[in-house]
Amino acid sequence: MFQKILIANRGEIAVRIIRACREMGIKTVAVYSEADREALHAQLADEAICIGPASSLESYLNMEQILSATIATKADAIHPGFGFLSENSKFAQMCQKCNITFIGPSAEMMERMGNKSEARKTMMAAKVPVVPGTKEPVYDAEEGKKIADEMGYPVMIKASSGGGGKGMRICERAEEFCENFCTAQMESVRAFNDNTMYIEKYIAHPRHIEFQILADKFGNVVQLGERDCSIQRHHQKVLEESPSCALSEELRKNMGDAAVHAAKAAGYENAGTVEFLLDETGNFYFIEMNTRIQVEHPVTEMVSGIDMIKEQIRIAAGYPLDKKQEDIKLQGHAIECRINAEDPKRNFMPCPGVIEELHLPGGFGVRVDTAVYQGYEIPPFYDSMIAKVIVHDKDRASAINKMRSALGELILEGVVTNIDFQYEILNNKDFQEGKTSTDFIPEHFPVEG
Ligand code: ADP
Repeated sequence: MFQKILIANRGEIAVRIIRACREMGIKTVAVYSEADREALHAQLADEAICIGPASSLESYLNMEQILSATIATKADAIHPGFGFLSENSKFAQMCQKCNITFIGPSAEMMERMGNKSEARKTMMAAKVPVVPGTKEPVYDAEEGKKIADEMGYPVMIKASSGGGGKGMRICERAEEFCENFCTAQMESVRAFNDNTMYIEKYIAHPRHIEFQILADKFGNVVQLGERDCSIQRHHQKVLEESPSCALSEELRKNMGDAAVHAAKAAGYENAGTVEFLLDETGNFYFIEMNTRIQVEHPVTEMVSGIDMIKEQIRIAAGYPLDKKQEDIKLQGHAIECRINAEDPKRNFMPCPGVIEELHLPGGFGVRVDTAVYQGYEIPPFYDSMIAKVIVHDKDRASAINKMRSALGELILEGVVTNIDFQYEILNNKDFQEGKTSTDFIPEHFPVEG
């Protein structure tokens, strides 16, 4: 097993990983930017190293600095968390060259699945249903338009390197195609330095259903059930739950089998998520595979009782999975609400600032993953998510009630947050009845969405 792990991340996920390491008897090294001197992760780890200025490019994305910190502290592995370098195959390759274990899949695998149009090809070859659309990459708007005209509108224009909703545009009509294509492509070039695009049929009112996968170095793959992440703003998740109330046992089994098959076909290793869209008639389509731990992993931890971070570390250290599919028992219902320092009334604009007062909820089945504390100043340089409240109860209705109670108890003064917005979602009748799709927020909160 590893002696010491460097965590190449910040915020609640860095804290989450430090905790798992400590419980496993593994020493930890935190890295922090100059803006994060007072951050909790830097204080909780056994060692902490400043890796550069506030800008992510010069700190949390600075591969050379992070590798130097790893070598200087004699850490034998790096956990990348999510975001930042977690899906960067070049970084995984550099780790390998330096004889440092990257806790995640191999660089080749990341390349294969991280490139979304490549991943579509791999899935098509494995006969996993994908959203109807292009097989080869598209670089040119006119060429794209011809394909879209044939497919029929509306279509979704997407960046191969896309993530976090960036480089993605819905196109309703042929007349809008070229403009939308160019905007999406420009966004992709700016964010990912890549002009490779692909086109998918637009699925109306879908649900976003994803399956959590664990795969070891010996070809064993298990799935830990689904998460329903249909509650989204700007194509980004806001509230996630498991199980999904939209799946029959038969559909759950079919989708779970497809997810395992997808991971096996790709030769996948470590924790990963296979994402699908489920249409209104019960057809499901692969959209992408995330080759890392995800923000919403606690939802799966609560229903499965399996610590995903520890599993990631064990797999990377070469241990086989200690559970077979039939040993995995999912119990009750879990919900996660992302707490963001943002203003839902102003198009979810980030609102950093100082947390003047803080009271976190607790109690049976309530979990809070966060790195903020009273008096903490949320820096303006990073993601606006500051906490995750997760609840677990015997069924969906009880979990909703528990979350309403927990959010009612949560006090976070000094900055604008989406706590009330989350509360409104939980109080919404359609949400309570499970009548949701990825259009839920734009439909029910048109001003905000
Ligand atoms: P990203 O990697 O940027 O998160 P995804 O491909 O995972 O992008 O899609 C994010 C969200 O965008 C989905 O959960 C869904 O809400 C919406 N979406 C993506 N593709 C389609 C599609 N073909 N039709 C309808 N909605 C889509």
